[in-house]
Amino acid sequence: MNADLLVRGIRQLATPQGPGPKRGAEMRRLLVIEHAAIAVARRRILWLGPEAEWTGHAPQSVDVGHRAVIPGLIDPHTHAVWAGDRLADFEARISGVAYETILARGGGIWSTIRATASASEEELVALAKPRLDALVRSGATVIEVKSGYGFTPEAELRMLRVIQRLTPARPARIIPTLLIHVPPKNESERAAYVSDACRILIPEVARQRLAQAVDVFVEKEAWSAVEAEQILNAARQHGLGIKLHTEQFHRVGGLEVGLRMNAPSIDHLEACSAEQIAQVGRSATVATILPGVSLHLGLPPAPGRALIDSGAAVAVGTDLNPGSSPLFSISAALALAVRLNGLTAQEALVAGTLNAAAALSLSDAGRIEPGMPADFLVLDGPDWRSLVYTLGANPVREVWIAGERVAA
Ligand SMILES: [Zn+2]
Repeated sequence: MNADLLVRGIRQLATPQGPGPKRGAEMRRLLVIEHAAIAVARRRILWLGPEAEWTGHAPQSVDVGHRAVIPGLIDPHTHAVWAGDRLADFEARISGVAYETILARGGGIWSTIRATASASEEELVALAKPRLDALVRSGATVIEVKSGYGFTPEAELRMLRVIQRLTPARPARIIPTLLIHVPPKNESERAAYVSDACRILIPEVARQRLAQAVDVFVEKEAWSAVEAEQILNAARQHGLGIKLHTEQFHRVGGLEVGLRMNAPSIDHLEACSAEQIAQVGRSATVATILPGVSLHLGLPPAPGRALIDSGAAVAVGTDLNPGSSPLFSISAALALAVRLNGLTAQEALVAGTLNAAAALSLSDAGRIEPGMPADFLVLDGPDWRSLVYTLGANPVREVWIAGERVAA
């Protein structure tokens, strides 16, 4: 066997195996190899196994010093492009001011939409780069990035162009999503907005290949289930994927739309009922949970434990955004999922790799296996479980993407 590179000195290698997503108890099954090595050829995994069993040839080798290695992590849910900040909102909220009052004072999401509108594309690119770099240093080798602070079709296209400009500039794979986020304040303008999204925005996004999927925020204060279904049908008609922000605060039918339409992922689910948890458990849809929001807003976390026990496939994302989740670390999101959502360390690793890949409809990411891109992390310690144990420091020592060390 001829490799380009042998990565050796791996004290422990831990990875899910085979295609995803993994559901229920399958989420606890990992391949763990002690004293392992990985052979890389043409930027892909060629071989993995106990180091003593490697008999091939590699002109180059790297010793990772008896540390643990896991697959590159995948952040399936971010809003990493924005301008302005929500520091005044945060200060008001922690001193007990209600979100409605903050909104009435001109804060909240509309302040982010205004600040994003007044920044140039260059400024937005420059603001987003260090956020994506922080996610990569935390172990993310694939990052989904949504629009959604544009509001008008032109402004959403502008956000997606910014995301497109970030793609070659960052080492991680960027997966762009069009988010239909906030409805017009005036009730009478909603139908026209949905119709413009379906007839103008979505076809244009598909034509210019600016997004892989369309996401809709379904909530009492946002879009209804009926409006979401209309928008997501238009997305499907134009060959785009679909996903939903749903059951975050209220149950208004978004989850049922997502399951009926076989969405690869439905995200949030903090307000799920027991019956809905069982429905997700019987479906093929990945439940993407976002513990950063629960921590930052001090709200009840999504029922990660109950979802897995019902047979569901669970993924975890940062939901990086200025208002509800200023969480710049995917490894920290997994550490929170263990503590807030009741996932085991094994389940968290699968949720942050193979299942997050499935939430993005990716079949070539999230596991260390021959043929897969050579995306992997060298952790700081010898035991892979330090990934979810560590709080406050970075458990990730080196990030490798397509066979190259991009961050250390
Ligand atoms: Zn979100």
